[in-house]
Amino acid sequence: MKKIAILGSTGSIGTQSLDVARKHGYEVCSLVAGSNVKLLEEQIREFKPKTAAVMDKAAGKALKTAVADTDTVVTFGREAVVELAAENDADTVINAIVGIAGLQPTLAAVEAKKDIALANKETLVTGGELVKKAIKENGVKLLPVDSEHSAIFQCLQGAPEGSLKSILLTASGGPFFGKTRDELKNVTVAQALKHPNWSMGAKITIDSASLMNKGLEVIEAVHLFDVDVDDITVVVHRQSIIHSAVEFRDGAVIAQLGTPDMRLPIQYALTYPERSDCQAERLDLFKVGSMTFEKPDTDTFRCLPACIKAIREGGLKPAAVNGANEMAVKLFLEGRIGFLQIGDIVEAALEHQPKVSDFTLDDILEADKAARNLALKFI
Ligand code: NAD
Ligand code: MG
Repeated sequence: MKKIAILGSTGSIGTQSLDVARKHGYEVCSLVAGSNVKLLEEQIREFKPKTAAVMDKAAGKALKTAVADTDTVVTFGREAVVELAAENDADTVINAIVGIAGLQPTLAAVEAKKDIALANKETLVTGGELVKKAIKENGVKLLPVDSEHSAIFQCLQGAPEGSLKSILLTASGGPFFGKTRDELKNVTVAQALKHPNWSMGAKITIDSASLMNKGLEVIEAVHLFDVDVDDITVVVHRQSIIHSAVEFRDGAVIAQLGTPDMRLPIQYALTYPERSDCQAERLDLFKVGSMTFEKPDTDTFRCLPACIKAIREGGLKPAAVNGANEMAVKLFLEGRIGFLQIGDIVEAALEHQPKVSDFTLDDILEADKAARNLALKFI
Protein backbone atom coordinates (compact mmCIF):
# COMPACT_ATOMS: atom_id res chain seq x y z
CA MET A 1 0.00 0.00 0.00
CA LYS A 2 1.22 3.47 -0.92
CA LYS A 3 2.24 5.69 1.98
CA ILE A 4 1.87 9.42 1.49
CA ALA A 5 2.41 12.68 3.34
CA ILE A 6 0.52 15.80 2.25
CA LEU A 7 1.95 19.26 2.74
CA GLY A 8 -0.82 21.84 2.40
CA SER A 9 -3.56 19.28 3.10
CA THR A 10 -6.29 21.86 3.80
CA GLY A 11 -5.97 23.61 0.43
CA SER A 12 -7.48 22.96 -2.97
CA ILE A 13 -4.83 20.45 -4.10
CA GLY A 14 -4.45 19.07 -0.56
CA THR A 15 -8.13 18.18 -0.17
CA GLN A 16 -8.25 16.68 -3.67
CA SER A 17 -5.14 14.63 -2.82
CA LEU A 18 -7.06 13.27 0.18
CA ASP A 19 -9.97 12.40 -2.17
CA VAL A 20 -7.52 10.33 -4.20
CA ALA A 21 -6.03 8.76 -1.06
CA ARG A 22 -9.52 7.89 0.21
CA LYS A 23 -10.49 6.25 -3.08
CA HIS A 24 -7.33 4.16 -3.32
CA GLY A 25 -6.99 3.40 0.37
CA TYR A 26 -3.53 4.94 0.64
CA GLU A 27 -2.00 5.26 4.07
CA VAL A 28 -1.76 8.93 5.02
CA CYS A 29 1.28 9.17 7.32
CA SER A 30 1.52 12.92 7.87
CA LEU A 31 -0.40 16.12 7.21
CA VAL A 32 0.82 19.72 7.12
CA ALA A 33 -1.24 22.91 6.91
CA GLY A 34 -0.88 26.65 7.34
CA SER A 35 -3.57 27.55 9.86
CA ASN A 36 -6.95 25.90 9.18
CA VAL A 37 -7.38 24.06 12.49
CA LYS A 38 -10.98 22.98 11.97
CA LEU A 39 -10.39 21.22 8.66
CA LEU A 40 -7.07 19.73 9.75
CA GLU A 41 -8.76 18.29 12.83
CA GLU A 42 -11.40 16.64 10.61
CA GLN A 43 -8.66 15.24 8.39
CA ILE A 44 -6.74 13.89 11.39
CA ARG A 45 -9.87 12.17 12.72
CA GLU A 46 -10.57 10.58 9.34
CA PHE A 47 -7.07 9.60 8.16
CA LYS A 48 -5.34 9.07 11.53
CA PRO A 49 -1.87 10.25 10.47
CA LYS A 50 1.03 9.58 12.86
CA THR A 51 2.11 13.22 12.73
CA ALA A 52 0.78 16.64 11.75
CA ALA A 53 2.40 20.06 11.60
CA VAL A 54 0.93 23.54 11.42
CA MET A 55 2.89 26.55 10.23
CA ASP A 56 1.01 29.08 12.38
CA LYS A 57 2.00 28.66 16.04
CA ALA A 58 -1.28 29.76 17.64
CA ALA A 59 -3.23 27.49 15.27
CA GLY A 60 -0.82 24.67 16.05
CA LYS A 61 -1.42 25.01 19.78
CA ALA A 62 -5.18 25.03 19.22
CA LEU A 63 -4.94 21.90 17.08
CA LYS A 64 -2.81 20.12 19.66
CA THR A 65 -5.54 20.65 22.25
CA ALA A 66 -8.31 19.74 19.81
CA VAL A 67 -6.81 16.35 18.89
CA ALA A 68 -5.31 15.51 22.28
CA ASP A 69 -7.56 12.42 22.41
CA THR A 70 -6.04 10.99 19.18
CA ASP A 71 -2.67 9.30 18.55
CA THR A 72 -1.52 12.03 16.14
CA VAL A 73 1.54 13.95 17.32
CA VAL A 74 1.18 17.67 16.53
CA THR A 75 4.08 20.11 16.06
CA PHE A 76 4.00 23.72 14.91
CA GLY A 77 6.08 26.56 13.48
CA ARG A 78 8.00 27.02 10.25
CA GLU A 79 10.80 24.66 11.29
CA ALA A 80 8.35 21.96 12.34
CA VAL A 81 6.88 22.04 8.82
CA VAL A 82 10.30 21.53 7.21
CA GLU A 83 11.17 18.82 9.72
CA LEU A 84 7.97 16.93 9.13
CA ALA A 85 8.53 17.06 5.34
CA ALA A 86 11.63 14.94 5.95
CA GLU A 87 10.71 12.92 9.01
CA ASN A 88 7.67 10.87 8.10
CA ASP A 89 6.94 7.28 7.08
CA ALA A 90 5.75 8.15 3.57
CA ASP A 91 7.42 7.06 0.35
CA THR A 92 5.86 9.98 -1.55
CA VAL A 93 5.45 13.52 -0.27
CA ILE A 94 2.79 15.58 -2.04
CA ASN A 95 3.79 19.22 -1.85
CA ALA A 96 0.65 21.34 -2.16
CA ILE A 97 1.83 24.32 -0.10
CA VAL A 98 1.37 27.66 -1.86
CA GLY A 99 4.32 29.96 -2.55
CA ILE A 100 8.05 29.87 -1.88
CA ALA A 101 7.15 28.52 1.58
CA GLY A 102 7.16 25.16 -0.23
CA LEU A 103 10.80 25.30 -1.29
CA GLN A 104 12.55 24.22 1.92
CA PRO A 105 10.05 21.43 2.66
CA THR A 106 10.64 20.10 -0.89
CA LEU A 107 14.41 20.11 -0.40
CA ALA A 108 14.08 18.48 3.04
CA ALA A 109 11.85 15.71 1.66
CA VAL A 110 14.21 15.05 -1.26
CA GLU A 111 17.19 14.85 1.06
CA ALA A 112 15.24 12.33 3.15
CA LYS A 113 14.95 10.26 -0.06
CA LYS A 114 11.22 10.72 -0.58
CA ASP A 115 9.68 10.83 -4.03
CA ILE A 116 7.96 14.18 -4.59
CA ALA A 117 4.57 14.74 -6.19
CA LEU A 118 4.95 18.44 -6.84
CA ALA A 119 2.03 20.86 -7.10
CA ASN A 120 3.99 23.73 -5.50
CA LYS A 121 5.32 25.30 -8.70
CA GLU A 122 7.08 28.07 -6.77
CA THR A 123 9.54 25.38 -5.59
CA LEU A 124 10.94 24.96 -9.10
CA VAL A 125 10.53 28.60 -10.11
CA THR A 126 12.69 29.82 -7.25
CA GLY A 127 14.95 26.85 -6.56
CA GLY A 128 14.88 24.80 -9.78
CA GLU A 129 18.64 24.27 -9.98
CA LEU A 130 19.01 23.29 -6.30
CA VAL A 131 16.03 20.96 -6.39
CA LYS A 132 17.16 19.20 -9.57
CA LYS A 133 20.64 18.70 -8.15
CA ALA A 134 19.19 17.27 -4.93
CA ILE A 135 16.84 14.99 -6.88
CA LYS A 136 19.79 13.59 -8.84
CA GLU A 137 22.03 13.16 -5.81
CA ASN A 138 19.33 11.38 -3.81
CA GLY A 139 18.02 9.22 -6.65
CA VAL A 140 14.36 10.11 -6.05
CA LYS A 141 11.53 10.85 -8.47
CA LEU A 142 10.04 14.29 -9.12
CA LEU A 143 6.49 13.80 -10.40
CA PRO A 144 4.60 16.85 -11.71
CA VAL A 145 1.09 17.53 -10.41
CA ASP A 146 0.46 20.85 -12.19
CA SER A 147 -2.01 19.80 -14.92
CA GLU A 148 0.03 21.15 -17.86
CA HIS A 149 3.24 19.55 -16.65
CA SER A 150 1.50 16.29 -15.89
CA ALA A 151 0.14 16.41 -19.46
CA ILE A 152 3.62 16.98 -20.90
CA PHE A 153 5.03 14.22 -18.69
CA GLN A 154 2.29 11.85 -19.89
CA CYS A 155 2.91 12.77 -23.55
CA LEU A 156 6.62 12.04 -23.11
CA GLN A 157 6.16 8.48 -21.82
CA GLY A 158 8.10 6.20 -24.14
CA ALA A 159 9.67 9.09 -26.07
CA PRO A 160 13.27 8.34 -27.10
CA GLU A 161 15.94 10.69 -25.81
CA GLY A 162 16.43 13.68 -28.09
CA SER A 163 13.08 13.25 -29.85
CA LEU A 164 11.31 16.24 -28.24
CA LYS A 165 11.30 19.40 -30.35
CA SER A 166 9.00 21.77 -28.48
CA ILE A 167 6.30 22.10 -25.85
CA LEU A 168 2.85 23.58 -26.42
CA LEU A 169 1.83 24.88 -23.00
CA THR A 170 -1.90 25.58 -22.92
CA ALA A 171 -3.52 28.41 -20.95
CA SER A 172 -7.19 29.06 -20.29
CA GLY A 173 -6.64 32.81 -20.59
CA GLY A 174 -8.40 33.33 -17.25
CA PRO A 175 -11.39 35.56 -16.49
CA PHE A 176 -9.97 38.63 -18.25
CA PHE A 177 -9.16 37.13 -21.64
CA GLY A 178 -9.79 39.67 -24.43
CA LYS A 179 -9.86 42.67 -22.09
CA THR A 180 -7.81 45.84 -22.73
CA ARG A 181 -5.56 47.48 -20.14
CA ASP A 182 -8.11 50.23 -19.86
CA GLU A 183 -10.82 47.73 -18.98
CA LEU A 184 -8.54 46.06 -16.43
CA LYS A 185 -7.73 49.22 -14.51
CA ASN A 186 -10.59 48.93 -12.06
CA VAL A 187 -11.38 45.22 -11.94
CA THR A 188 -12.33 43.96 -8.49
CA VAL A 189 -10.93 41.12 -6.41
CA ALA A 190 -14.21 39.23 -6.84
CA GLN A 191 -13.96 39.49 -10.64
CA ALA A 192 -10.36 38.30 -10.60
CA LEU A 193 -11.27 35.35 -8.38
CA LYS A 194 -13.84 34.09 -10.89
CA HIS A 195 -11.92 31.54 -12.95
CA PRO A 196 -13.88 30.21 -15.95
CA ASN A 197 -12.77 26.54 -15.76
CA TRP A 198 -10.90 25.66 -12.56
CA SER A 199 -11.69 25.95 -8.86
CA MET A 200 -8.38 26.65 -7.06
CA GLY A 201 -6.78 28.50 -4.15
CA ALA A 202 -6.92 32.32 -4.17
CA LYS A 203 -3.27 32.95 -5.06
CA ILE A 204 -3.15 30.75 -8.15
CA THR A 205 -6.56 32.06 -9.25
CA ILE A 206 -5.23 35.63 -9.27
CA ASP A 207 -2.08 34.34 -11.02
CA SER A 208 -4.34 32.85 -13.69
CA ALA A 209 -6.12 36.16 -14.17
CA SER A 210 -2.81 38.02 -14.64
CA LEU A 211 -1.17 35.20 -16.69
CA MET A 212 1.59 35.16 -14.05
CA ASN A 213 0.56 31.54 -13.55
CA LYS A 214 1.50 30.76 -17.14
CA GLY A 215 4.80 32.58 -16.71
CA LEU A 216 5.56 30.52 -13.60
CA GLU A 217 4.61 27.40 -15.56
CA VAL A 218 6.99 28.25 -18.41
CA ILE A 219 9.81 28.43 -15.84
CA GLU A 220 8.58 25.21 -14.21
CA ALA A 221 8.60 23.46 -17.62
CA VAL A 222 12.15 24.63 -18.42
CA HIS A 223 13.34 22.92 -15.23
CA LEU A 224 11.20 19.80 -15.39
CA PHE A 225 11.82 18.92 -19.01
CA ASP A 226 15.27 20.47 -19.62
CA VAL A 227 14.08 22.52 -22.58
CA ASP A 228 15.10 25.95 -23.77
CA VAL A 229 12.56 28.66 -22.98
CA ASP A 230 12.36 29.42 -26.72
CA ASP A 231 11.11 25.87 -27.33
CA ILE A 232 7.96 26.52 -25.30
CA THR A 233 4.92 28.07 -26.98
CA VAL A 234 2.06 29.31 -24.82
CA VAL A 235 -1.28 28.61 -26.49
CA VAL A 236 -4.51 30.12 -25.18
CA HIS A 237 -7.10 27.36 -25.27
CA ARG A 238 -10.25 28.64 -23.59
CA GLN A 239 -11.89 25.26 -23.02
CA SER A 240 -9.09 23.76 -20.84
CA ILE A 241 -9.56 20.32 -22.43
CA ILE A 242 -6.10 19.95 -23.93
CA HIS A 243 -3.86 20.20 -20.86
CA SER A 244 -0.71 20.65 -22.99
CA ALA A 245 1.05 18.96 -25.90
CA VAL A 246 4.52 18.08 -27.15
CA GLU A 247 5.89 18.31 -30.66
CA PHE A 248 8.45 15.70 -31.72
CA ARG A 249 11.27 16.09 -34.26
CA ASP A 250 9.23 14.38 -36.99
CA GLY A 251 6.38 16.87 -36.61
CA ALA A 252 4.05 14.59 -34.66
CA VAL A 253 2.16 16.43 -31.93
CA ILE A 254 0.87 14.43 -28.98
CA ALA A 255 -1.52 16.00 -26.48
CA GLN A 256 -3.19 14.92 -23.26
CA LEU A 257 -6.90 15.73 -22.97
CA GLY A 258 -9.39 15.45 -20.15
CA THR A 259 -12.03 17.32 -18.20
CA PRO A 260 -10.50 20.04 -15.96
CA ASP A 261 -10.18 18.07 -12.70
CA MET A 262 -6.92 18.03 -10.72
CA ARG A 263 -7.63 14.59 -9.31
CA LEU A 264 -6.34 12.98 -12.52
CA PRO A 265 -2.88 14.60 -12.47
CA ILE A 266 -2.67 14.09 -8.68
CA GLN A 267 -3.55 10.42 -9.09
CA TYR A 268 -1.15 9.91 -12.00
CA ALA A 269 1.72 11.28 -9.90
CA LEU A 270 0.87 8.64 -7.29
CA THR A 271 0.14 5.63 -9.52
CA TYR A 272 2.85 6.36 -12.13
CA PRO A 273 3.66 4.49 -14.30
CA GLU A 274 0.42 2.56 -13.69
CA ARG A 275 -3.05 3.92 -14.38
CA SER A 276 -6.25 3.18 -12.51
CA ASP A 277 -9.87 4.36 -12.29
CA CYS A 278 -10.29 8.02 -11.40
CA GLN A 279 -13.12 10.04 -9.83
CA ALA A 280 -12.86 12.82 -12.42
CA GLU A 281 -15.69 13.16 -14.92
CA ARG A 282 -14.78 11.38 -18.18
CA LEU A 283 -14.20 13.42 -21.31
CA ASP A 284 -17.05 13.54 -23.82
CA LEU A 285 -15.72 15.10 -27.03
CA PHE A 286 -19.25 15.51 -28.40
CA LYS A 287 -20.09 17.67 -25.40
CA VAL A 288 -16.93 19.73 -25.97
CA GLY A 289 -17.92 20.21 -29.62
CA SER A 290 -15.13 22.54 -30.68
CA MET A 291 -11.82 23.79 -29.37
CA THR A 292 -10.08 27.10 -30.04
CA PHE A 293 -6.44 28.23 -29.97
CA GLU A 294 -5.10 31.76 -29.78
CA LYS A 295 -1.95 33.70 -29.00
CA PRO A 296 -1.64 35.26 -25.54
CA ASP A 297 -1.89 39.06 -25.40
CA THR A 298 1.51 39.87 -23.90
CA ASP A 299 1.04 43.65 -24.24
CA THR A 300 -1.88 43.52 -21.83
CA PHE A 301 -0.73 40.67 -19.58
CA ARG A 302 2.86 41.64 -18.86
CA CYS A 303 3.63 39.09 -16.16
CA LEU A 304 4.00 36.39 -18.81
CA PRO A 305 6.77 38.09 -20.84
CA ALA A 306 8.43 39.17 -17.56
CA CYS A 307 8.69 35.54 -16.45
CA ILE A 308 10.03 34.48 -19.85
CA LYS A 309 12.68 37.18 -19.62
CA ALA A 310 13.46 36.13 -16.04
CA ILE A 311 14.21 32.51 -16.95
CA ARG A 312 16.13 33.56 -20.06
CA GLU A 313 18.40 35.76 -17.91
CA GLY A 314 18.40 33.12 -15.17
CA GLY A 315 20.21 33.43 -11.84
CA LEU A 316 17.98 34.92 -9.16
CA LYS A 317 15.63 36.70 -11.59
CA PRO A 318 12.96 33.96 -11.41
CA ALA A 319 13.05 34.11 -7.60
CA ALA A 320 12.70 37.90 -7.79
CA VAL A 321 9.66 37.90 -10.09
CA ASN A 322 8.07 35.18 -7.97
CA GLY A 323 8.63 37.00 -4.67
CA ALA A 324 7.37 40.27 -6.09
CA ASN A 325 4.28 38.54 -7.40
CA GLU A 326 3.53 36.77 -4.11
CA MET A 327 3.53 40.11 -2.31
CA ALA A 328 1.65 41.87 -5.12
CA VAL A 329 -1.11 39.24 -5.07
CA LYS A 330 -1.39 39.59 -1.30
CA LEU A 331 -1.69 43.38 -1.63
CA PHE A 332 -4.25 43.06 -4.43
CA LEU A 333 -6.36 40.62 -2.39
CA GLU A 334 -6.23 43.11 0.52
CA GLY A 335 -7.43 45.87 -1.78
CA ARG A 336 -4.21 47.87 -1.38
CA ILE A 337 -3.14 47.93 -5.05
CA GLY A 338 -4.94 47.69 -8.38
CA PHE A 339 -4.88 44.64 -10.64
CA LEU A 340 -2.54 46.17 -13.24
CA GLN A 341 0.00 47.03 -10.56
CA ILE A 342 0.75 43.34 -10.16
CA GLY A 343 2.45 43.45 -13.56
CA ASP A 344 4.22 46.73 -12.74
CA ILE A 345 5.64 45.18 -9.56
CA VAL A 346 6.78 42.01 -11.30
CA GLU A 347 8.49 44.02 -14.04
CA ALA A 348 10.19 46.27 -11.47
CA ALA A 349 11.55 43.25 -9.57
CA LEU A 350 12.88 41.75 -12.79
CA GLU A 351 14.85 44.91 -13.57
CA HIS A 352 15.92 45.47 -9.97
CA GLN A 353 17.42 42.02 -9.39
CA PRO A 354 21.13 41.99 -10.37
CA LYS A 355 22.41 39.21 -12.63
CA VAL A 356 24.27 36.43 -10.83
CA SER A 357 25.30 32.99 -12.03
CA ASP A 358 26.17 31.18 -8.81
CA PHE A 359 23.81 31.18 -5.84
CA THR A 360 22.76 29.33 -2.69
CA LEU A 361 19.46 28.76 -0.93
CA ASP A 362 20.17 31.79 1.27
CA ASP A 363 20.66 33.94 -1.84
CA ILE A 364 17.28 32.79 -3.16
CA LEU A 365 15.59 33.68 0.13
CA GLU A 366 17.36 37.07 0.11
CA ALA A 367 16.24 37.81 -3.45
CA ASP A 368 12.70 36.83 -2.46
CA LYS A 369 12.77 39.18 0.50
CA ALA A 370 14.19 42.09 -1.52
CA ALA A 371 11.49 41.62 -4.18
CA ARG A 372 8.74 41.60 -1.53
CA ASN A 373 10.10 44.83 -0.04
CA LEU A 374 10.20 46.39 -3.47
CA ALA A 375 6.52 45.44 -3.97
CA LEU A 376 5.56 47.24 -0.75
CA LYS A 377 6.76 50.52 -2.26
CA PHE A 378 3.88 50.37 -4.77
CA ILE A 379 1.13 50.78 -2.16
P1 NAD B 1 -4.47 26.73 -1.39
O1 NAD B 1 -4.27 28.12 -0.96
O2 NAD B 1 -5.83 26.24 -1.63
O3 NAD B 1 -3.78 25.74 -0.33
C1 NAD B 1 -2.49 25.95 0.18
C2 NAD B 1 -2.20 25.00 1.33
O4 NAD B 1 -0.90 25.27 1.84
C3 NAD B 1 -3.16 25.15 2.52
O5 NAD B 1 -3.32 23.89 3.14
C4 NAD B 1 -2.40 26.08 3.47
O6 NAD B 1 -2.78 25.93 4.80
C5 NAD B 1 -1.00 25.57 3.24
N1 NAD B 1 0.06 26.55 3.54
C6 NAD B 1 0.15 27.83 3.10
N2 NAD B 1 1.29 28.40 3.53
C7 NAD B 1 1.93 27.45 4.25
C8 NAD B 1 3.16 27.41 4.97
N3 NAD B 1 3.96 28.48 5.04
N4 NAD B 1 3.53 26.26 5.58
C9 NAD B 1 2.73 25.18 5.52
N5 NAD B 1 1.54 25.15 4.87
C10 NAD B 1 1.16 26.26 4.25
O7 NAD B 1 -3.56 26.53 -2.71
P2 NAD B 1 -3.77 25.49 -3.90
O8 NAD B 1 -4.62 26.10 -4.93
O9 NAD B 1 -4.08 24.15 -3.36
O10 NAD B 1 -2.30 25.49 -4.52
C11 NAD B 1 -1.21 24.85 -3.89
C12 NAD B 1 -0.04 24.81 -4.85
O11 NAD B 1 -0.38 24.01 -5.98
C13 NAD B 1 0.35 26.19 -5.41
O12 NAD B 1 1.72 26.24 -5.59
C14 NAD B 1 -0.36 26.21 -6.75
O13 NAD B 1 0.28 27.05 -7.68
C15 NAD B 1 -0.27 24.76 -7.17
N6 NAD B 1 -1.31 24.33 -8.11
C16 NAD B 1 -2.61 24.39 -7.75
C17 NAD B 1 -3.60 23.98 -8.62
C18 NAD B 1 -5.06 23.99 -8.23
O14 NAD B 1 -5.88 23.51 -8.99
N7 NAD B 1 -5.42 24.47 -7.06
C19 NAD B 1 -3.25 23.54 -9.91
C20 NAD B 1 -1.91 23.49 -10.24
C21 NAD B 1 -0.94 23.89 -9.34
MG1 MG C 1 -1.35 24.61 -14.23
